[in-house]
Amino acid sequence: MKFASRLVSFDPAPGDRFRPISTPIYQTATFEQEHADQFGEYDYSRSGNPTRTVLENHLASLENGSRGFCFSSGMAAIATVTKPLRNGDDILADSDLYGGTCRLFSKLLDRTGITARYADACDPESFEQQITPQTRLVYVESPTNPLLRVVDLRRIAGIAHAHGALLCVDNSTMSPYLQNPLDLGADIVLHSATKYLGGHHDVTAGAIIVRDETLAGQIYFVQNAEGNALAPFDCYLLLRGIKTLKLRLDCQQRNAQAVASFLAAHKDVTGVYYPGLRGARGYDLQHSQARGAGAVLSFTTGSIELSKAIAEQAKLFRITVSFGSVNSSISLPGNMSHASVPPEVMATRDLPRDLVRISAGIEDEEDMIADLDQALSFAKQRVLIAIP
Ligand code: PLP
Repeated sequence: MKFASRLVSFDPAPGDRFRPISTPIYQTATFEQEHADQFGEYDYSRSGNPTRTVLENHLASLENGSRGFCFSSGMAAIATVTKPLRNGDDILADSDLYGGTCRLFSKLLDRTGITARYADACDPESFEQQITPQTRLVYVESPTNPLLRVVDLRRIAGIAHAHGALLCVDNSTMSPYLQNPLDLGADIVLHSATKYLGGHHDVTAGAIIVRDETLAGQIYFVQNAEGNALAPFDCYLLLRGIKTLKLRLDCQQRNAQAVASFLAAHKDVTGVYYPGLRGARGYDLQHSQARGAGAVLSFTTGSIELSKAIAEQAKLFRITVSFGSVNSSISLPGNMSHASVPPEVMATRDLPRDLVRISAGIEDEEDMIADLDQALSFAKQRVLIAIP
């Protein structure tokens, strides 16, 4: 079956005698057992819940994995993949990462004796030189958030495996519709399901998908032991959102392409970061490992004041952190989603302070461009007036 069919063609309620077409919300904490000395399929929702099982199996299938796990947030999923590491182990991560991931790696994991280091995964040779015998986990996003840099996932998987490390890919900017990292050699694929999987910014969730049974066992152990699994109602919202993933993303990607072209031609824009623009850095690589460039892009203006004024002047693009919703959003990563990057890590990162990130929604393309056009010209006037 093609992807659009797979999104909606799955058993929504295995074993349910009423045969509902939408997955019921099993809003129960516990399940009655027939015997006092042996458990049935479900006993306690922290350990397993039928609504969650349908979602986890569906995501495993969409990512071409064998087991899926859903969590209360993307961060809970990221924390879970670090749990099998031990004191003295080391994570080598790409240097362009979501701010919350850096905060977790650099400010929380260090308390357990696990070290996180950062290197440019877009330069595989120098990245490989940073791997040490202690490196157990290589962690990347592609395209990265917020600079939309494209990492050669096949190559980085080969490097990680040659040194006995696992590769985890945060696939949030792509979703399983556009990219399947397990097929490119990754061991773990991870999502902030808050983004495209949910698609409506009405649920905070995370997901992990793997192929290897031993790894799956370790992840399930953490999910059950820590109690960070996604609640039944949120599972239902995600299942509902996933059905329209292709429809949404096809439209969002078209809009992103139009917005990127508009910005690239605008006189007040100094740079556009979007691997869907022909000639952009990473264009060929992106199209060799993914089925599109997605709907997140960023740009610079050469002035923090101008970037701030553009975000504040836009109306259809609302100032919100996060991305992936049906509504377009605009943000300044340096002040918002990436403000949590520890200063010493930020000092080593090439994150322009005037960077504006856009997440294209499903609005009309002409309205989106008209909104950015007015935002750019009013912002320019505002900044010029403010200069004494
Ligand atoms: N990964 C990426 C690429 C993100 O942008 C985010 C959040 O913005 C996360 C992970 C964390 O996900 P959540 O906010 O669902 O915890």
